[in-house]
Amino acid sequence: MSTIAWIGLGHMGAPMSAHLVSAGHTVRGVDLNPTAAEAAASRGVTVVGSIREALDGADVCFTSLPMPQHVRAVFDGPDGIWAHAAPGTLLLDTSTVDIETSRWCHTESDARGFVFVDAPISGGTAGAEAHTLTFMLGGREEDVARARAIVEPMAGSVISCGEATAGIAAKLVNNMMLFIGVMAVAEGSQLAEQLGLDPQVFWEVANVSSGSSWPQRTWYPVPGVVEKAAANRNFDATFSVDLARKDCGLAVQAGESTGVHLPAAQLALAQLEELTARGLGHKDCTLVTLLATPDGQLRGYDPAAD
Ligand code: NAD
Repeated sequence: MSTIAWIGLGHMGAPMSAHLVSAGHTVRGVDLNPTAAEAAASRGVTVVGSIREALDGADVCFTSLPMPQHVRAVFDGPDGIWAHAAPGTLLLDTSTVDIETSRWCHTESDARGFVFVDAPISGGTAGAEAHTLTFMLGGREEDVARARAIVEPMAGSVISCGEATAGIAAKLVNNMMLFIGVMAVAEGSQLAEQLGLDPQVFWEVANVSSGSSWPQRTWYPVPGVVEKAAANRNFDATFSVDLARKDCGLAVQAGESTGVHLPAAQLALAQLEELTARGLGHKDCTLVTLLATPDGQLRGYDPAAD
């Protein structure tokens, strides 16, 4: 069993770290947000006040942080991971970041005698709770093998994607496809509503037909159809607009640097930016459905209850 440091106990970090506790590891977690820290503590994670304390005696360290700048800040600097981890510690970043940030983590970790594997995840909070996440691992073969053994209690699938940054590259492409898919489900759900279809019946049709997709099965944006969907909880975030906008923006950026044309991804990004401009960045990304409604009224969403 390992002693594991976990930095970032949010929507994903809390359930994921709790699975490592259940698997018998000692997990010491840290989060700036006391509410997130308390939630993780109630699930068996030993919450500490600093990265240094989390890393004391740890042979593995996970990060699950919102944005690339948070990852850079947590790795670097006098209070960061590199300053306090023991040599040879396995560092696994499960955050979704740009390829340059992930490469920087690899290069700088190598230079300092640590082992870094990019380990982004897919499956949402439902997958994190159900330990069915897909892990996309990037790094040297022996390091990926070490990472694979550790992530197993949280995973439904663990895929070795290739060398350094291959995991994060796969993740960015996957999420770009996801947010284009969310737009399809948003528009489809509202057209079905306006055409008078029973949402449950239409969902059952789509589920076994060519319109089916992961967001259709997991995030259907009409209340009363898919239990864990944000539509049942006033579109409170399971995956926030802000995080989705980040991911989609990183994919569009990758398209620009490679010359690949991504008009659908650009439209998905524009819709997420529109929600942010309306002050809805903290809500669930499936709230793009609001933009498909004829009159701006979305069943399951009450702005006054926010
Ligand atoms: P979140 O905002 O709920 O959690 C991130 C946590 O990091 C927060 O609790 C925040 O307080 C904490 N944090 C920020 N800076 C910190 C610091 N310096 N030290 C300690 N804690 C710090 O985000 P999330 O939804 O859990 O996502 C985490 C990462 O996983 C993101 O990169 C996201 O893109 C990715 N991801 C999310 C989902 C999802 O469905 N939510 C799915 C796949 C991947």
